Amino acid sequence: MIKIKDLHKQFDQLKVLKGINLEVAKGKVVVVIGPSGSGKTTLLRCLNVLEQPTSGQIAIEDQVLDFSQQVPKKKIPSFRRLTGMVFQNYNLFPHMTALENIMEGPVTVKGEKKEAARKKAEMLLGKVGLGDKIHFYPFQLSGGQQQRVGIARALAMEPKVMLFDEPTSALDPELVGEVLKVMKDLANEGMTMVVVTHEMRFAREAADEVIFMDGGVVVERGNPEQIFSNPKEARTKQFLNLIQ
Ligand code: ADP
Repeated sequence: MIKIKDLHKQFDQLKVLKGINLEVAKGKVVVVIGPSGSGKTTLLRCLNVLEQPTSGQIAIEDQVLDFSQQVPKKKIPSFRRLTGMVFQNYNLFPHMTALENIMEGPVTVKGEKKEAARKKAEMLLGKVGLGDKIHFYPFQLSGGQQQRVGIARALAMEPKVMLFDEPTSALDPELVGEVLKVMKDLANEGMTMVVVTHEMRFAREAADEVIFMDGGVVVERGNPEQIFSNPKEARTKQFLNLIQ
C-alpha cells in the first residue's frame, strides 16, 4: 500500500529525515515511536505532502511521487486524498458543528451532494460513538470527543490510509482510552494505518509492526514483541528504559 524509498527532508541546514525506507502492506498498522525531534511528525507530514520532501520517493497504491525531480503540482491533490490525517490538536473548524466539520471535505473538495455527505457524516459520527452530538460545536465537546470527530472527518474523505500524529497527546488521561478504542476498531476493520504515538500499550496491542526512529533514521523495526521485549539496538533499549 505504501512504499517509501530513501526519503530525505531538510529544513534549511537541518537534516530531519536522512534516508527513510519503509513499506506498509494493505490492512497493516504501523506504529512509529522514538524520541522527540527524531522526525516522526515530519515523516507523516511528508506522506501526505504537507511537507515537501527534499528527495526520495513515496508510492501509495498506484500513485508515485518522485521528489528527486520536480513533482508536477497537479499530481499532489489526488495523492493527498489517498491519506487521511488526524492531528494532535484536532484542527476542527470552530464555527462548524461536528456534522458540518465532517461534511465540509466531501462537499467542497470531492463535490459530493450535501444530502449524501450528511448521511455519511451521521453514519461516521455514530461509528465513533457521537451519534447524539452531531449538532454540537467543538467548544461544546471534550477533547476526546473532538478527536473522535477529527477521526470521523478524515474517514469521510474515504482515504486508503489513515495517518495519526500523536492523536492522544493533548488529551487528559481519562479521555485517551475512548480515542484509542476508535483507532483499534478501525484497525480491526482492516484500515491501513501509520500511527505516531507515545501510547506503548496501543503499540503492543494494535501494531503489526513497530518502527523505532532516532535522528532521522529508522533504527529498528519489528513486531511489538521483538521491539518491546527483545530490542536489539542500544538506542532502542535506552529509549524504552526511559519511557517504561
Ligand atoms: P518528532 O515528531 O519526532 O518529535 P519532528 O518531525 O516534529 O520530530 O521534528 C524533527 C526536527 O525537525 C525538529 O528538530 C524540529 O524542530 C524540526 N522541524 C520540524 N518542522 C520544521 C519546520 N517547519 N521548520 C524547521 N524545522 C522543523
